[in-house]
Amino acid sequence: MTRSDIAASPLTDRLPAVLGDRLITAAHEEFAPLAATTFTGDDRTPEVIARPRNAAETAEVVRLAAEGAIPFAVRGGGHAYHRRSSVAGGLVLDTRLLDGIDLDPDARIGRAGGGVLAGAYTTAAGAFGLATGFGDTGSVGVAGLTLGGGIGHLSRRDGLAIDNLLAAELVLADGRVVRASADEHDDLFWALRGGGGNFGVVTALEFRLHPTATIVGGFLAFESSPDVLAALVRAGQEAPDTLSVMVNAMLAPPAPFLPVEVHGRPIVAALVCFSGAPEDADAVLAPLRAAGTPIADLVRPQAYPELFAGPPAPSGLRASIRTGFRDELDPAWAAAALDAIGTAATPGAIVNVRVMGGAIGRVDADATAFAHRDRGLMVTVVGSQPDPNGADGREWVDATAGRLGVATGGSYVNFIGDDDPDGAAAAYPEATLQRLAEVKRRYDPENLFRSNHNIAPQG
Ligand SMILES: Cc1cc2nc3c(=O)[nH]c(=O)nc-3n(C[C@H](O)[C@H](O)[C@H](O)COP(=O)(O)OP(=O)(O)OC[C@H]3O[C@@H](n4cnc5c(N)ncnc54)[C@H](O)[C@@H]3O)c2cc1C
Repeated sequence: MTRSDIAASPLTDRLPAVLGDRLITAAHEEFAPLAATTFTGDDRTPEVIARPRNAAETAEVVRLAAEGAIPFAVRGGGHAYHRRSSVAGGLVLDTRLLDGIDLDPDARIGRAGGGVLAGAYTTAAGAFGLATGFGDTGSVGVAGLTLGGGIGHLSRRDGLAIDNLLAAELVLADGRVVRASADEHDDLFWALRGGGGNFGVVTALEFRLHPTATIVGGFLAFESSPDVLAALVRAGQEAPDTLSVMVNAMLAPPAPFLPVEVHGRPIVAALVCFSGAPEDADAVLAPLRAAGTPIADLVRPQAYPELFAGPPAPSGLRASIRTGFRDELDPAWAAAALDAIGTAATPGAIVNVRVMGGAIGRVDADATAFAHRDRGLMVTVVGSQPDPNGADGREWVDATAGRLGVATGGSYVNFIGDDDPDGAAAAYPEATLQRLAEVKRRYDPENLFRSNHNIAPQG
């Protein structure tokens, strides 16, 4: 497929009639910022970006994409490590104008358009002292994150994002607009909860909201120490479900709140969120603070949305990633992680350990397409750097993942890169993958939605 094929396709004359000035090409000033994604690599610049405002327009774009048989991708926040939310010379359906947020605080239900970002929803819900748990970054798309599972600060208390999803409206490959929930298209609803963007364009999502006003949370850092890393993770696993702990072995950024002597050197840094009764916070957080002598302690009472208030993730990063699960770790494993960080090939090198358990594990493994319910920890090795032409740290990431036993026994679809040898096959147990492939055949037999971690239609 070449650019002239696109010019000859029905897109060029029929899409403007649907979208008007919301069909963006390189001739438009806003093309470059709209085409930008968090991660870069080989050129994936699209030919056109379609920006529908509602489900009916989305359906028209999907129909034309199917008819034109052109390279086609769906994007929201643009944070995918696989980078398949853009497609070289093709059509990108940009969901970001599907940006409505409608909250019913009495019923504790939040509705988000398919292009809403996690920070916007969290801020809006926070005004009512309510929250739906997404991840840890405000600029990530709610739909993209949720379709893969969605693990974040409230997951041990309230479950993954998918565990709080009540319904989704989506445009199928044939242009039909359907609602999927426990009562409508329940096979599709099962697949949407973990199966990624394989089944259609999600135009709206409906979530459960939970009372979450002031939390006690923030960043807690220590000098490099395997004992401290292991103790933080253990404390997170032994804590009540109202405590969420994510621990990083990483190179210290040149941040003003970190002593200048550690800048650029390995440190242990935890991101903490206690969402229980404020009077219990000190006692619950004490084992974390006792893990060592903190070199930075920014953990403080704050409104939950403040955790999402940072700047958006920059675009054009070079990165590589491997992820997997384990149940526990010991100081020897932590020592290997910190040692690896000391040899990192990119400045943004991280070994990230997320404590799972709690409400995540109280959902049956086959209730949704995210099956790794019984695992204690999610471990992710990332190499990244801001220079778009720099090295992506692939060799270091692979070697570190191998050394730490990451990516053996399942992985998380939202943390799989574009060069992962196994892709979707690594993310799902065999039975889950089979069931996903059957749902895919029912709803997208021609595999229109394939620019993702693709599940081929089967069965
Ligand atoms: C800085 C950063 C922090 C992160 N933190 C977390 C975290 O804490 N927890 C976590 O679970 N994940 C996290 N992630 C991973 C994140 O959930 C995935 O990268 C997710 O796919 C991003 O969604 P997006 O809309 O931003 O990305 P995009 O690149 O726009 O979309 C990714 C894919 O999602 C699908 N998609 C997006 N929107 C739609 C839609 N409306 N309808 C159908 N398909 C759609 C498409 O297949 C697309 O290819 C993080 C990623 C980054 C870069």
